Amino acid sequence: MSIPTEQWAQVVEATGQQPVYKKIPVGKPGPNEVLVNIKYSGVCHTDLHAMLGDWPLATKLPLVGGHEGAGVVVARGELVKDVAIGDHVGVKWINGSCLSCSFCRQMDEPLCGEATLSGYTVDGSFQQYCIANADHVARIPKEVSLEAVSPVLCAGITVYKGLKESGARPGQYVAIVGAGGGLGNMAIQYAKAMGLHVIAIDGGDEKRDNTLSLGAKTFVDFTKSKDVVADVKAATPDGHGPQAVILLAVNEKPFQQASQYVRPHGTVVCIGLPPNAFLKAAVFETVIRMVTIKGSYVGNRQDTAEAIDFFARGLIKAPYKVVGLSELSKVYELMHAGKVVGRYVVDTSK
Ligand code: NAD
Ligand code: ZN
Repeated sequence: MSIPTEQWAQVVEATGQQPVYKKIPVGKPGPNEVLVNIKYSGVCHTDLHAMLGDWPLATKLPLVGGHEGAGVVVARGELVKDVAIGDHVGVKWINGSCLSCSFCRQMDEPLCGEATLSGYTVDGSFQQYCIANADHVARIPKEVSLEAVSPVLCAGITVYKGLKESGARPGQYVAIVGAGGGLGNMAIQYAKAMGLHVIAIDGGDEKRDNTLSLGAKTFVDFTKSKDVVADVKAATPDGHGPQAVILLAVNEKPFQQASQYVRPHGTVVCIGLPPNAFLKAAVFETVIRMVTIKGSYVGNRQDTAEAIDFFARGLIKAPYKVVGLSELSKVYELMHAGKVVGRYVVDTSK
């Protein structure tokens, strides 16, 4: 297989400015790395945060974003043994980690102090050839569609992990906040596959139709509801609220509301990362209602394998639209306006 010396990429040259579609050199993998010919990459709201620079963590510059890259291994370093040329793999948010610290030893690789982040601290999947750590690439079975699986590589893994962190059991209720977005659509599908009832919360008729068609039992429109807290509680059979809340919105307000409608002894899982936002909950109610509020950050390598296995079994069907890599800026504009329903996937050949 011949590997070109140059490739197309979307490059953020200055924080806050749209990326530039241009040709850049193809990198060479280090001893423990693989070079992946990216075919498709999902576009996550995190990529937009990276471009805007609105988080309290600096990106590398210039930056090739993207961390839902699905493709084929075309080269590997001399220490790589268990990933072969021709294998289908995914480049996910955690590009690499030390594998020897106490976090890595206990499968908390996202907490490793040495973790590198695809499309943030190292170049990611908005290019045709991406370098990733061989220990961390997601293994994708060959019969799985690379374009359809790409959003699983961040959105799917993250919501699957968050649902597990919530402790919700089959038959219970989960409220998914931001259910019409990329993570939200995946969360509805994983929750359904895990035997949970879903209350979807988002805004507008398009997102109502989308979330109900994916299997949500109830839709609460935050733009129309006079009392979101009362409406979410009313969506559970006894009116006491859902056992779990998965917060995916890029907005502070729902982070303040969730502890008011979660069921006593229930769990609020924070996943969305609105800039400059804070959690606020009444101490009195949190104590006497025994509410748990926690964060959840992507997933480890085992969560990755399990999330892909759910997908490979045909349990996860979330809508996505495919556009050329050259059109990434248009996707960012739609996402910024809150107009993306489900996920956009970029095709790196266009
Ligand atoms: P998205 O833009 O596709 O979806 C966000 C959704 O939230 C939209 O549908 C929007 O309408 C909805 N929303 C906005 N305000 C709301 C409100 N008040 N109530 C209910 N819904 C509301 O974004 P995405 O790609 O799904 O990402 C969501 C967030 O998750 C981003 O901040 C992203 O950075 C973060 N994220 C976190 C992790 C993690 O590991 N914790 C991983 C991936 C992404
Ligand atoms: Zn992401």
